[in-house]
Amino acid sequence: MSVSITDAKSAELYARAVQRLPGGVNSPVRAMRAIGRDPIFVDRAEGAELVDVDGNRYIDYVCSWGPLVHGHAHPEILAAIIDAAHRGTTFGAPTAGEIDLAEEVGRRMPAVEMLRMTSSGTEAAMSAIRLARAATGRTTLLKFAGAYHGHVDGLLARAGSGLATAGIPTSPGVPPSAAHETIIVDWNDGEAVARACAEHEFAAILAEPYPANMGLVPPVEGFLQLLRNQADDNGALLVFDEVITGFRVGPGGAQERDGVQPDLTVMGKVIGGGLPAAAFGGARSLMEHIAPAGDVYQAGTLSGNPLAVAAGMATLRMLDEPAYLRLGATTEALAGGLRDAAAVVGVPVSVVSVPGLLTVFFSETPPRDYPAAQACDLDGYAAWCRALLARGVYPPPSQFEAWFPSLAHTSEHLDRTLDAVHAAFAELAG
Ligand SMILES: *Cc1c(COP(=O)(O)O)cnc(C)c1O
Repeated sequence: MSVSITDAKSAELYARAVQRLPGGVNSPVRAMRAIGRDPIFVDRAEGAELVDVDGNRYIDYVCSWGPLVHGHAHPEILAAIIDAAHRGTTFGAPTAGEIDLAEEVGRRMPAVEMLRMTSSGTEAAMSAIRLARAATGRTTLLKFAGAYHGHVDGLLARAGSGLATAGIPTSPGVPPSAAHETIIVDWNDGEAVARACAEHEFAAILAEPYPANMGLVPPVEGFLQLLRNQADDNGALLVFDEVITGFRVGPGGAQERDGVQPDLTVMGKVIGGGLPAAAFGGARSLMEHIAPAGDVYQAGTLSGNPLAVAAGMATLRMLDEPAYLRLGATTEALAGGLRDAAAVVGVPVSVVSVPGLLTVFFSETPPRDYPAAQACDLDGYAAWCRALLARGVYPPPSQFEAWFPSLAHTSEHLDRTLDAVHAAFAELAG
């Protein structure tokens, strides 16, 4: 793998892009500012590999930030999309595929008896909160520092993902009233949750069950059950945002792996198979508050889009038990290799993983909350990412995001990745 790559065409496109798109991109993390370089413009991708406009080829560990659990341009998913497209791209009327998808989700997540589809995870989280407020007659929310639930006003306070990357505590333009209705505590701090619950009557406790937008910071033993108990005592709904974890960490997401059932589940990414689709769902008694069954208004021109539903169904159909075992093994092999490589050169990193997700934290111990994640060596991480990109490996270009290994990553990809990883750590160690 070469360490000298050309980026003339990406540079040319970036110069044009910044004239017409804020920061040259349509979503902040793509700009790669957190790792001190300009964005890479993509030409195409297949399987686990991405090719940029300059012809550089990368082993991709971003995979569109989660949807592509089968890798890029999987033939079966493409065939499902093309077949659906031939029958029409959108109708504004219901289709059979939407029922198939809701039934499949219900089989995987028994707590999701009914769901409503949206076009983005942001919309799904926003609508789940509207429903929680309507169902409880309360307004205040409990969320965790460093958790990301999309870019809706009330959920941006001390959010992870792109806000963490940019060091933005809460975006300008969010009215204080919206932020005031959100109480924020540190992840994995059970006492802080109990204190907040003693002081407030919450509409919802909202959590990523395995937070992956401050890097991956899994719950400590018993923490999700503590949230379940606190929500019940408080009279709040427990809302799990499984936009990343849903259908990735196991057939039924984190709620199945940890055996803690939320009242409402927010889904996205994998459920759309690489097309814009997301959903929120829960018990029939709650979901029937949603219009037109009930009076909580929620709608979308492209919600349940037939192409996205076809891509999502094709994606879920291929996610059987052997697939999850394979994804788990790939993740473990990658995490182990990353740990070994860091140890060889003595760079202090901690590699945290669950099946299908991992983060390489530039810190001696794995962070257990957002302040700890923020205390990582961000410059070290950035330099390491630049060194990986120069060697044909595309890691998440921010310390506050997860790696997304896929079923398209073969042992040959892992070998090449770990060669680059060794070289990049060696370059850092100097
Ligand atoms: C990506 C993400 C969202 C937002 O989904 P979009 O489709 O980008 O709006 C919400 N919650 C979590 C946990 C996410 O990772």
